[in-house]
Amino acid sequence: MILDKNAFGVRGFFAERAFKATFRREGQEAARDLVRSGFVGRDISVYIHFPFCTGLCPACPYVRYIQKPSLMESYCNSLIEEVGMYGRLLKDLELRITDIHVGGGTPSLPDPVFYKRVLEALGEWFDLCKGLSFGIEANPEDLTEDKVFKLREAGVNELSIGVQSFFRENLRTLGRRHSVEDSIDAIENVEKAGFENVNLDMMYMIPRQTVESWVEDLELAAEYKPSQITTYPLLIVPYRPMYSLMRRGRVPEQPSMREFKQMYYSAVDRLDDHGYKPVRYYSFSRSPWEYSTVEREMVGPLLAFGAGAMGFPGRCEYVNTCSVREYVKSIARGMLPIAGIRPVSKEERGIRWIAERLSALKLEFEDFEREFGEKFREFTRRTGFSRALTMQRLMGHLKFYEDRIELTRKGLFGRNLSGWHFVLSVPCRIVEEYLRTPWPREVTVP
Ligand code: SF4
Repeated sequence: MILDKNAFGVRGFFAERAFKATFRREGQEAARDLVRSGFVGRDISVYIHFPFCTGLCPACPYVRYIQKPSLMESYCNSLIEEVGMYGRLLKDLELRITDIHVGGGTPSLPDPVFYKRVLEALGEWFDLCKGLSFGIEANPEDLTEDKVFKLREAGVNELSIGVQSFFRENLRTLGRRHSVEDSIDAIENVEKAGFENVNLDMMYMIPRQTVESWVEDLELAAEYKPSQITTYPLLIVPYRPMYSLMRRGRVPEQPSMREFKQMYYSAVDRLDDHGYKPVRYYSFSRSPWEYSTVEREMVGPLLAFGAGAMGFPGRCEYVNTCSVREYVKSIARGMLPIAGIRPVSKEERGIRWIAERLSALKLEFEDFEREFGEKFREFTRRTGFSRALTMQRLMGHLKFYEDRIELTRKGLFGRNLSGWHFVLSVPCRIVEEYLRTPWPREVTVP
C-alpha cells in the first residue's frame, strides 16, 4: 500500500466533498485589513516556519530547502522584520502571546541567538504571557550539549525531537541524516540541560517495518521517559520523490491497511502500559502538558511568520509565499508576504472547533457555548453537522452524554484515518500548489 490521499477509500471520497477552501491573492491593503479585523481573541499563539535542512528527505511533505548560509542569514533577518511589520499593524489590538512554536524544515539548525532575537522582537510589539511556552522542533544531530544549553539560555523551553525510529534501516529508508546514537545523545543532552517538556516524534508505516519492530521502537522511546510521544504514519505526497520511487518499485510499498490498524492500536496499548495516555488520537503524554500547535491552527487565533507559514487569526486564514527568495524580496519591499488569504465564517470555525476537540478525544458543550455564544446542539442542527456526528455515533466512534461527546476506542482509529486524510488533502495540497507558483491568483483545495 502507498499511504497517499487515495488510500482512504470511501472515507476519503466523502471527506473531499465535505470541505472546500479557496485562497486568493489580495492587494496589500485588503490583506492587511482582513488580518487586522480577523482576530477572535486577545490571547494568541505564534507559529514560525524555518524552512532549511542539511539534506532533503525524499518523503517530506513540508516547505523545506537545502541550507545556504547567506540565504539563511537574510531569511532570519527578514523574519525579524516581518514580526515588526505585524507588530506595527496590530499594536493597538493589545494581543498577548501565550505560546510560540517553531517548525520546519529544521529549526535546530540556526544559532540559538536567532531565537533570542525572535523573542525580543515579539516582546517589543506584543505582550508576552508569563510562563510562555517556546518550543522548537529539533533534529537529533543538532542537539549537542553546547547547543541545548544555548537554546535554553535563548528562552526555548520545550523541544520536540525528531527521533522517528531507533532502527538504522528505518532511518535509511526515510533518508534521515542522524544515527540512532545521535538520538540517544540528544535525549541525554536535553535532560542534562533541564528541559522538562520534551516530545519524541516516532514514525510508523515505514516500508519493511513490522508491527513487532514498531512496538519495539515505542518501547525504546518510552524507556527514556519523555513527557510526550507523538506517533506519525509516513504520508506520501505526489510532489516528493518517494511517491515515484514507490510507484516504480525502487522503494518497497508500505505495510497494509490491516497493519496500519494493528500498529495504531499496539501504540495505544503499549504506551498505556508505560503510563502514556492519549492526549490526541496520535500523541500520548505522561502529564497534562502537550507539545502541540494544532488547537490554535484549527481554531485560532494564530499568527504565523516565515515562508510557507499558515496563519489563522480566526475570521480569516492566510498562507505566506513558499518561496524563500520571494519571501525575502517581499519583506525588503515592506510588503506582507501573504500569497493567499480567505475569510472564514463562524460556521466553519465552529466545525473546526468540533474537529479539533474530538481530535483531543472529548468536547464539552459548555466550552462551545462559551467560545461561540450559541448552544452546541442548535449550532450542529443549524449547520447540518449533527448528521455527521450522528453517523459517527452509529458507527460506534462517538459516545454522547448529557454535557459532552467522547471519542470511543473504535473512534480513535477512525479519527486517525480522517485526521491524516485531512492533512494529505488540505495542508499538503496547499503546500503543493504554493510550491508550484510563488504568487498564484487563486488556489482551491482539496
Ligand atoms: S523531514 Fe525534516 S529534516 Fe527531512 S527534509 Fe523534511 S523538514 Fe527537513
